[in-house]
Amino acid sequence: MQLLRTFIAADIPPTLQQTMQSHVDRLRRSLGDLVRWVPVSNIHLTLKFLGEVSPASVEILTQILRAEADSCPSFDITIGGLGSFPNSKRARVLWVGIQAPAELEALQRGIEAACARLGYESDPRPFSPHLTIGRVKERIAHADQQKIRQALEEITIDSLGTARVDSIHLYKSDLKPGGSVYTKLFTAPLKNVV
Ligand code: ATP
Ligand code: MG
Repeated sequence: MQLLRTFIAADIPPTLQQTMQSHVDRLRRSLGDLVRWVPVSNIHLTLKFLGEVSPASVEILTQILRAEADSCPSFDITIGGLGSFPNSKRARVLWVGIQAPAELEALQRGIEAACARLGYESDPRPFSPHLTIGRVKERIAHADQQKIRQALEEITIDSLGTARVDSIHLYKSDLKPGGSVYTKLFTAPLKNVV
């Protein structure tokens, strides 16, 4: 049986992805190939990483998306700030930050709980909404790690704008040599409050 690598995410509008391009380019000029950069068209807000699931699970996952989306009103997020996980001394993931109202956390918590009820593993880490823009390559030299640390200290990313989140998506991810390819399997609209 062919398993599907899946995750649940919200999209960032193409205009904001484009705004991010110049900032990613600036970092790329300073850090070059120490980092695997995420193509801006792939930048998204992950709500739940499910990993490998059976094709038969997709139907029930769409029901979770629909139920959780139905109980969450649309909301706005503001994007800006540069940071890294797990910390700035040992950066592995470079991200742009997200400021969001309580709805986002409630939505994520609801999805996490519904997935846990179905037996999907819960992420023990607290939810920390972010947009991954790059992943530091494995086994880089200490001096290069320092270079990244310095870049993170020197380069700032101000507020890049606001985006409405009005739907969530179940994505399939195919890990290809040229980078991951995402395909939308299902979309659920959030509640539209005027
Ligand atoms: P690549 O793995 O090629 O760098 P990617 O990380 O974007 O690309 P996936 O590994 O399929 O592609 O991940 C899809 C989404 O799920 C991404 O947002 C990723 O950050 C997130 N994700 C992946 N693995 C985990 C994990 N173990 N825990 C939490 N989130 C994860
Ligand atoms: Mg990955």
